[in-house]
Amino acid sequence: MSKLSFEFPDGSVKEFEQGVTVEDVAKSIAVSLAKKAVAGKIDGQMYGINEPLANGGKIEIITKDSDDGLKVLRQTASQLLKAALADQFVGIEFGESTSDEDGFFVDTDKKDTQVSADELKPLEDKMRKMVKNNVSIERKVLSKEDALKQVDGDPYQAKLVNKLANGDEVVFYQIGDYLSLGEGVVLPSAKDVKEFKLLSVAGAYWEGKSSNPMLQRIFATAFYKKADLEADLKRRQEAKERDHRVIGNKLDLFFVDPKVGAGLAYWMPNGATVRRVIERYIVDKELANGYQHVITPVLMNLDAYKTSGHWAHYREDMFPPMDMGDGEQLELRPMNCPSHIQIFKHHIRSYRELPMRIAELGMMHRYEKSGALSGLQRVREMTLNDGHTFLAIEQIKEEFKRILHLMVEVYKDFDIENYHFRLSYRDPKNTEKYFDDDEMWNKSQSMLKGAMDELGLDYVEAEGEAAFYGPKLDVQTYTAMGNEETLSTIQLDFMLPERFDLHYVGEDGKEHRPVMVHRGLVSTMERFVAYLIEVYKGAFPTWLAPHQVKVIPVSMDKHGEYAKKVNNKLTALGIRSSVDSRNEKMGYLIRDAQTNKVPYTLVVGDDEASSDKVSVRRYGEDNSTELSINDFVKNIQEDISNYSRK
Ligand code: ATP
Ligand code: ZN
Repeated sequence: MSKLSFEFPDGSVKEFEQGVTVEDVAKSIAVSLAKKAVAGKIDGQMYGINEPLANGGKIEIITKDSDDGLKVLRQTASQLLKAALADQFVGIEFGESTSDEDGFFVDTDKKDTQVSADELKPLEDKMRKMVKNNVSIERKVLSKEDALKQVDGDPYQAKLVNKLANGDEVVFYQIGDYLSLGEGVVLPSAKDVKEFKLLSVAGAYWEGKSSNPMLQRIFATAFYKKADLEADLKRRQEAKERDHRVIGNKLDLFFVDPKVGAGLAYWMPNGATVRRVIERYIVDKELANGYQHVITPVLMNLDAYKTSGHWAHYREDMFPPMDMGDGEQLELRPMNCPSHIQIFKHHIRSYRELPMRIAELGMMHRYEKSGALSGLQRVREMTLNDGHTFLAIEQIKEEFKRILHLMVEVYKDFDIENYHFRLSYRDPKNTEKYFDDDEMWNKSQSMLKGAMDELGLDYVEAEGEAAFYGPKLDVQTYTAMGNEETLSTIQLDFMLPERFDLHYVGEDGKEHRPVMVHRGLVSTMERFVAYLIEVYKGAFPTWLAPHQVKVIPVSMDKHGEYAKKVNNKLTALGIRSSVDSRNEKMGYLIRDAQTNKVPYTLVVGDDEASSDKVSVRRYGEDNSTELSINDFVKNIQEDISNYSRK
């Protein structure tokens, strides 16, 4: 038999006998390498450490300290979890089980009831036993026919067998009595799976489609080192404390109830207050920066979206049109651009009016996949801080700079520091998603890149992230969970002006085609508020806080009148203040104000009432200071007008 030839990352080539394993190959280099090795990659394909190899190629030894090495560990842990589940619940069915950079999960279906959070501990114990006993994990290759027999009765596994089969071969792992369908390379035994944790359970649709049955997904994670697991659990705890859905509920800011409509947010008075402050702020800022604010309908004749290209390129994100029965088809808008185009088209425009900046807090609807919906962060009805500039081609760079400048100002006021720029291009192969016009794409992409280079700003480039009509500059921030998300976006567009046949009269008296710049500064109100809740852990700075001041009388009987006087003075000045007149102990009321993250608590008793003073306690501080009412007013007004972080 011919020998197998392996090329190593340093370019050297070695020959081995047929049937050699990754472990043998690693040993031939260094025993220390073999010790750390957990798998191998040959021409990009993963192989188990003890798997007899039949083909040569470019080889990479996968060690414990690599991302792939971690994946192998997590894949192994997911197999142990499956074995534990199969043992615990007779007849349980399994959907996908996957490992990724966030951990691993196993999808399950118990039919009548589902795996619950309090069943995780016994499952974890079972897994620990397997680890302690160093249960072996033996790779077995079955024919497709045998594989289907093996998973008989489990419709999900049968489908997975067909998906995972390599020709007629399907990999299984024998773990104790349980023969488990393999979904990736695993370790040869359970002994390295010491540091793991089953985290939570949640519903997940089979294959991610809401028309499919809902399975129960068990989330978990695993590491080789104890310290890594501990750090990860700490990070998760921190993320949980910041989770805008949890805080939103605690502070009564908003709710989303799938029973009344998945992805449709209800803003409670507290959340609506935060949103209103942001809306007023941004509208004023834009008015001061040359934008004209408009109000346009959320419904539009479907024909406009056919003209714009939304219907051809964006349909799957749109709600289905409403057939009005008289030939008219109305569409809930997924973007505001066609609406602002109508505003531009309504009059004959002159070059003197350009750049013309049209802005709106534009409500729009997108049919996001149910699995992608998340609190306020990803919703189906949203209001975008939208703006469209119509301009002459030679004005692009200047306008681009202006928008960036405005964005930086806004970010300063909201204390947003951790962000980076991403230039989002089209994927030229994906003509379904993007307008097929090479010349326009090349022109707009190179103009955008040129503008960034000229400004000397750093950016990363991403293919396939552009809007269907043009490239974008996206401003990427991070959620509390560490996920990257787009907050602001500036997009250059030569397409829509063409499609809607826009023009303006130039200095030469002739008609010219304008260019459009689409931009959102603070994203949608929904995503921005979700983001801010997480950044501030719900403790909004005074200018944004739903309740800015809580006045607490030492005794309602004795000091209630004075408390009301202080409160009236504050509310008359537009400060969001109220008296806590509940018949509770003062200590309780102070704690309650802290729990609700009210920036200022004012305690008033005999001393204060007799001297027109207040005892001021800042959120998160233990001490209080005596101030005259007037001084307190001066301080808080300063906080508010400076958008102070306090
Ligand atoms: P994403 O990639 O997040 O789906 P997008 O590229 O489709 O967004 P745009 O059309 O550029 O988004 O929309 C403008 C902004 O609106 C986005 O940058 C994002 O901040 C916000 N946004 C988009 N979709 C949603 C949503 N479903 N819920 C809340 N905000 C959203
Ligand atoms: Zn737009």
